[in-house]
Amino acid sequence: MSETSSARQLVPWQATVLTIFPEMFPGPLAVSVTGQALAAGTWRLDCVNIREFGIGRHRQVDDTPSGGGAGMVMRADVLGLAIDAALTSSPDLPRIYLSPRGKPLTQDRAKALAHGPGVLLLAGRFEGVDQRVIDARDLEEISIGDYVLSGGELAAMVLIDACVRLLPGVLGGETSLAEESFEAGGLEYPQYTKPRIWEDRTIPDVLLSGNHKRVEEWRRTEAERLTRERRPDLLKRDL
Ligand code: SAM
Repeated sequence: MSETSSARQLVPWQATVLTIFPEMFPGPLAVSVTGQALAAGTWRLDCVNIREFGIGRHRQVDDTPSGGGAGMVMRADVLGLAIDAALTSSPDLPRIYLSPRGKPLTQDRAKALAHGPGVLLLAGRFEGVDQRVIDARDLEEISIGDYVLSGGELAAMVLIDACVRLLPGVLGGETSLAEESFEAGGLEYPQYTKPRIWEDRTIPDVLLSGNHKRVEEWRRTEAERLTRERRPDLLKRDL
């Protein structure tokens, strides 16, 4: 075991989420492998309720957009206080604002984040957040896809899930990780299991042949075919 991975097991990977809906967490992250890893102390989750830093009796966190227009924008002063409070306990975490305007989340980025100490995630609501807090607190914008969610909480959960499953010991068979979609740059080959025949559909003969070399070849060809058909952009990225 390397020094870094043994050290990481002593210090849990830290996810700090700033949100106005802390009750949404851990939510789906509490089940299956991420839930087991949370219970085992492999990673830690802290939610900061942005509302606690809100203004006045109603703990207001948003206001009308400067220049006019629909909706509300989260205030820089409120978010600045919330981020600073979170940073006092974890000053070294990469700071991320989940945002449809951000760079798309990729497997490589998840892997890099999983190798670090954790993440500090700002989940936006309404029309988004005041640009000044993004600039002043040096927040990196990351998107989970080209669509608009009603809030950043689900996006934060997606990012956390993608990282936590990569932490040492979270998934049993490390070898299956190596063959997953995006690991080798493309998509994964089709998977089959028992029964051998289901609704008149059979498993490709080669997978039952016991010939490991032929199985490997078939998987590689199928993975390439699927990637070419569905995500030719991934093949271009490899060039
Ligand atoms: N007005 C914003 C825009 O057009 O870019 C969308 C705001 S959205 C309704 C509210 C919040 O949801 C955002 O501040 C962001 O935190 C989150 N969000 C929405 N879509 C997202 C995506 N694709 N990836 C990451 N976060 C997203």
